[in-house]
Amino acid sequence: MSKHPLQFLEVPRRDPEKEAAEERVQHFGEIYGHYDAADAAQQAGRCLDCGNPYCEWKCPVHNYIPNWLNLIEQGKLFEAAELSHQTNSLPEICGRVCPQDRLCEGACTLDEMGAVSIGNIERYITDEAVKQGWRPDMTNVVATGKRVAVIGAGPAGLGAADVLAREGIHPVVYDAYPEIGGLLTFGIPPFKLDKEIVRQRQELLEGMGVEFVLNTRIGEDIPFEDIVNDYDAVFLGLGTYKYVHGGFQGEDLPGVYDALPFLVSNVNRQLGLDRNPDNWINLAGKHVVVLGGGDTGMDCNRTAVRQGAASVSCAYRRDEENMPGSRREVANSKEEGVNFLFNRQPLEIVGGDRVTGVKVIETRLGEPDPDGRRRPETVPGTEEILPADAVIIAFGFRPDPADWFADHDIEALPSGKVRVATHGDMPFRTTNPKVFAGGDMVRGSDLVVTAVFEGREAAKSIAKYLGVR
Ligand SMILES: Cc1cc2nc3c(=O)[nH]c(=O)nc-3n(C[C@H](O)[C@H](O)[C@H](O)COP(=O)(O)OP(=O)(O)OC[C@H]3O[C@@H](n4cnc5c(N)ncnc54)[C@H](O)[C@@H]3O)c2cc1C
Repeated sequence: MSKHPLQFLEVPRRDPEKEAAEERVQHFGEIYGHYDAADAAQQAGRCLDCGNPYCEWKCPVHNYIPNWLNLIEQGKLFEAAELSHQTNSLPEICGRVCPQDRLCEGACTLDEMGAVSIGNIERYITDEAVKQGWRPDMTNVVATGKRVAVIGAGPAGLGAADVLAREGIHPVVYDAYPEIGGLLTFGIPPFKLDKEIVRQRQELLEGMGVEFVLNTRIGEDIPFEDIVNDYDAVFLGLGTYKYVHGGFQGEDLPGVYDALPFLVSNVNRQLGLDRNPDNWINLAGKHVVVLGGGDTGMDCNRTAVRQGAASVSCAYRRDEENMPGSRREVANSKEEGVNFLFNRQPLEIVGGDRVTGVKVIETRLGEPDPDGRRRPETVPGTEEILPADAVIIAFGFRPDPADWFADHDIEALPSGKVRVATHGDMPFRTTNPKVFAGGDMVRGSDLVVTAVFEGREAAKSIAKYLGVR
């Protein structure tokens, strides 16, 4: 059946239903519903197939978006799943957590009239295909006998393992945590990404021949030396785990928490990995101030709300327009009752035996900094104290080179990011010819989809290095 050329005018964008704020804050589950086959086909049919697929170019992994939308419109689910996996190792996860408004959907020709709901359809494809029994097609893979160690089971490591397995190279993925996913599991809260989705991905990868060795920290439980000697090549996807602090007084007062330990404690509690309530950071009944306006800040806001905080305020030093957090997550935070305080710069965390508040000063935006973002300037005489009995610091993360890098000729830049080749035929190769790297440890804190991209590209380089490509 041929498509009506103006279908996008007749069929408006329709997203799966979102649970009402007052209900969803009562639990930690995902908040969006799902398309059925008819919804997905109808929404996919809105794609104009505009000939110049800006969506595809803007997508960091260059997904074949118009092509899989077309397959879904025709009801060819398994073909769409196979095609979706040609460019992305975690499509059902990217469909959930990518900031589509800044990437594919922001570039959609229909943007002004309601972009095609690419993220929701991407999520539908793998969710539904797996439910119906689809598994990645490995029938043409020929085993090469090569073995590669992948250190880090985050998006970068999983992207690398996926491509290596498809190249006939046996990947053994090590991670310090008891579950795979890196920040997908121990960072991003379950209301954005159900952890069963990550576990399902583990099963898919194991079905492709990927081996996981968890609860194992390389450099402590196994020396890196042994890994380099035992494998044909190594991929590092270690992430960034050094917390950025504000450098002001009171940051070490009891009741002040770094964002990640707070989020991890909550996940450990939800997953039953830590059953000792003494270890939990529980903000029930507390007046909470979250410092920072990025996605991590939004996740802390919404986790604190779900824990039953008496109030949650989020202070950010620029205005709303300049906030780095995704629009979707800022809107979700607001709906869930978070009180935003824009143009407020923290000066000090105040208290005695424990925190009692945050001293902030108002700001206005001045000249742009070297990154082009307008610098916040403080307005004298506008100091105030925001009362708080818990404060969460969500200022981001910096790469933290492992102490064993230097012993193995793996060079880091002054920023702490690992130096990799950006040109030539083996991008993502470190200064040690046998070791490759990608994800947050190479580019600094970024996105799931960019980490997947780098892991995949590094794996292609490894295949070239091993002479199998
Ligand atoms: C709170 C939070 C929310 C976020 N929300 C989003 C979002 O909504 N959308 C989005 O696109 N991005 C989001 N991000 C960013 C995204 O999660 C990261 O960019 C991405 O996970 C980076 O992937 P990675 O594989 O490089 O590192 P990670 O995900 O950090 O994985 C690194 C893994 O390496 C392991 N490891 C480290 N050292 C060793 C060692 N020596 N031995 C064994 N294992 C080791 C770690 O245990 C970890 O599992 C968020 C980040 C945070 C912190």
